[in-house]
Order: sequence, then structure tokens, then C-alpha cells
Amino acid sequence: MQTNISLEEAQETLLSLAKPTEIEESVRLEESVGRVLSRVIKAPYQLPPFSKSPLDGYALRAEDIEQATPEEPAIIKVIEEIHAGYVAKSEVVAGTTVKLMTGSPMPKGADIVIKYEDIERTADVIRVFQPLKKDSNVIFAGEDVAIDEVIANSGDIVTPALVGALAAVGIAMVPVYKKVDIAILSTGDELVEPSEALPAGKIYNSNLHSLRAACATLATNPIMMGTVDDNKEKIVNKLLAALEISDIVITTGGVSVGDYDLVPDAIVEIDAGIIFKGVKLKPGSPIIVAKKQDKFIIALSGNAAAATVTFQLMAIPLIKKLMGLKEYFAPTTKAILMSDFKKKSPQRRFLRGVFQIEYTGNSVTLAGSQSNGALKSMIGCNALIDIPAGTEPLVKGQVVSVILTGEL
Ligand code: AMP
Ligand code: MG
Repeated sequence: MQTNISLEEAQETLLSLAKPTEIEESVRLEESVGRVLSRVIKAPYQLPPFSKSPLDGYALRAEDIEQATPEEPAIIKVIEEIHAGYVAKSEVVAGTTVKLMTGSPMPKGADIVIKYEDIERTADVIRVFQPLKKDSNVIFAGEDVAIDEVIANSGDIVTPALVGALAAVGIAMVPVYKKVDIAILSTGDELVEPSEALPAGKIYNSNLHSLRAACATLATNPIMMGTVDDNKEKIVNKLLAALEISDIVITTGGVSVGDYDLVPDAIVEIDAGIIFKGVKLKPGSPIIVAKKQDKFIIALSGNAAAATVTFQLMAIPLIKKLMGLKEYFAPTTKAILMSDFKKKSPQRRFLRGVFQIEYTGNSVTLAGSQSNGALKSMIGCNALIDIPAGTEPLVKGQVVSVILTGEL
């Protein structure tokens, strides 16, 4: 067991022990967004499937209007009219044209489309006043996606754009990895569910809900295990039940050194191997990560901000690796700090910030109180400011490193 390690050591150790799930399933297109592809996707059809017109106009042969001038227009006979969804019955031969609308398949024999605005029509005849190069105004079959072209790889996340591309090539069922099952449980005699009345001395359980919501944004399967009292036997039983039905168990509360911090003992009691205990960062240093067979237990502090920050820094990369994703870490960048921070940071510290991209550069503002239990500072927080150990108080205007944990 390692103790008091750096964040990077913790992340590396965790990821080195994690194996991406290999279990696949096939889900309907409608359920695929956010999931991770388990296979390479090749287009079974080309896109577009046939050559077509990008505008409303007349399809004809370029050679028929080669000599056309405003004084001596080419006179072409209209032999059919079609719109998108229908194929012309006639072939365009010398001196003829098919009127068509945007998206109509190119009629056989035609190699250009002329816009309505560029011709004059009388009865079933059009007059064309200038030549047009062969292939003008034609979208060619396969121009966008060729048959068998790779449109996505295994390990790619299904985005709304990919959903559209899959639909466009006629893929209705999508091969994805199974969802990672994440059991979430909180410990603490003081916790009451938000739906209940609040007796004196109790607080509402927020971690259970914020962590469940965070897991849900990742297309995982969060499982609410509820709250356990500060009682070792009860924690043991709940942990065992949670391990049965999940890939990762996340607990909050009871991990430090108080008399009622019983999670470490419970983890030992169930024979899970503790991988590391304590990470050198603030907030959330008293974290424990353990493994029982191929399942992980991540025990986080009960303090709301500490639980969220350590969840983002350590649990999310683990979850992403198990999901089958190829990128595990949130992007990092630099920004100008827009607030003072008056405390020294003898330990590495992560401050909750609101990051903004402006044309003048990146900026980050402190998101309210930075105490371990402060909850409000998590609202609107989209970045963690990474302050190295041994840093003096921070002043407005300083350049800081940030991890982009949320929406910009
Ligand atoms: P602990 O980690 O159990 O020592 O708890 C640290 C602080 O976080 C205490 O003030 C707890 O009351 C609070 N806390 C523990 N669990 C939760 C939770 N699930 N939701 C909100 N606050 C909590
Ligand atoms: Mg507690």
C-alpha cells in the first residue's frame, strides 16, 4: 500500500490497474449518444448514395449549350419534371432537359444543372444564354463518404454528429461497450435524504446526488446505494452488496481519522487490497483506493467540495478508462487569475474556478468560498486551478494552470 502520494502517482497507479471493459452490446441509434463504440464503423453505403442536384434547376448536357450566347441562346426541350425522392424515367439526350428540385437524382445522360434564375422558360422549352462547364452544380455519389470508408473507430464517443452520420449510412443499431456500473454510497449518521424532514443536527445528503449526476453525464450506469450509518458492520455489508453489482464503488465520508471514520476498517474487513491511502492535495487528501478482485473501491471525504474535486481528478479518469475511452484526462491550460487568494498553499491545492475564453486570452475567477465543505463554489465551477505546493498567496493578474473539468 502506498500512502500520501502525489496526484500523478495516484492517477498512474489507478489507471495501470484498470482494464477497459470488453463486453459489447448493440444499442439503438436513439440510445447511443455518449456511449463508446466497441468497433470500427465503416460506411455500408456511400454518401450521397447517388449523384444529385444541389439546387432547383434544369439537368442537361454541357455540350448542348457550348455555343450559347445572349444573342443566340441554346433552345432545349423540357421532357420531364422530378423532385427529391424520385428518379427520372427519361434519359437526357441531345437537346433535352429534365426540370428538377434540390436533392433530385441526376437523370441519366445529364452532366450539369442550370439554376432557374439563369434560363428563360416558355411552354416546354428553355433558353440558355451561356455555356456551363461539365459537372457544374452536381453533387457526386460518394463525394461525402465513400463506401467502406471508416467513419468512426472503436473507443470513440458517440456524438450527436456521429449519430447523424450513422443514420445517414443506414446504421440503426450501434455496437458499444457495456455501461460501467458505478455504485455510490454515502456514510454518516448525520445524513438525511432531501425528500425527508430535517431533524436537529442532521444535514441533507448532497454527495450521493452530485456524484450520481456526475456519473450520469458520462453515460455510465450509476447505482444509488443510499446512506449507511457510521457503523462498521453496516458499512461492511453495504460495501459487499455494492461490489456484487458494480465495477466501481464510490463512497463518501468516514475516511479520515475521527472516531467515527470507519470506512478504512470496513475496507480491511472485506479483504479488499488497499492500493493507496492519502493523496497530497487539498481538498480531499484523505482518499482511499482499494481493489477487490477486478472491482475498485474509491472512498472519498464527505466534505462536498473535497468529494467532487477528488472524484473529478481520480474517479473520472478511472471511469473513462473502464468505459473504453482513449482519453482519460480533462484538458489543461493556463489562464490569468481574476481574483486574489489570500492563503499560502503549503500543500498542492485545487481551487474551484470559473474559466472563460475571451479574445484577449483565458481568464479564471475564484468560484466563491474555497473551504472543503463549501458547496456553492461548485456551482458554475468549470475549472480547477492547480496551485503547486509551497505557493505564496495569489494575486489578481497572475498566470495559473487550470484543468478544464466542466463546460466552457
Ligand atoms: P467525513 O468525511 O465523514 O468526516 O465528513 C466530513 C464533512 O462532510 C462533515 O461535515 C459531514 O457532515 C459532511 N458530509 C459527509 N457526507 C456528506 C454527504 N453525503 N453530503 C453532504 N455532506 C456530507
Ligand atoms: Mg462522517
